[in-house]
Amino acid sequence: MSERTLVLVKPDGVRRGVVGDVISRIERKGLKIVALDLRTLPRETAEAHYEEHASKPFFGELVEFITGGPLVAMVVEGPRAIEAFRALAGATDPVSAAPGTIRGDHALEIGENIVHGSDSTYSADREIKLFFPDLG
Ligand code: ADP
Ligand code: MG
Repeated sequence: MSERTLVLVKPDGVRRGVVGDVISRIERKGLKIVALDLRTLPRETAEAHYEEHASKPFFGELVEFITGGPLVAMVVEGPRAIEAFRALAGATDPVSAAPGTIRGDHALEIGENIVHGSDSTYSADREIKLFFPDLG
């Protein structure tokens, strides 16, 4: 049984030049990239993507950050792809993220933690439709 997840290399990851490293880790794990695009998000897409955080104190900062430069959006597929990618990414707070994970190896600040991965099948469906409406 295969599932899909939305992965973002956020603008800090693109700026830091770790797109290749993130892609390598996804491929090394055996997950498959089925869509990939470099783009700068319009504010409306960013707000929709992070709608669950709309009431949080960091929401404004989060939207500024995610729209502040080009990001790489990907759809990644494989058995338990959602959980598999979140394990590769590591904990949300990069200081707590285990060394060997993407966030554990590349970041120090919670607001600039390099990658996004969908957290459930419901979120994955919603986010994939938002970023790649034409994907079959
Ligand atoms: P995850 O990206 O691990 O699913 P969340 O969904 O909780 O984490 O949060 C979404 C994003 O919002 C995080 O990846 C992070 O960039 C940002 N964020 C979360 N908590 C904070 C915080 N306390 N301060 C600033 N940014 C935060
Ligand atoms: Mg999340």
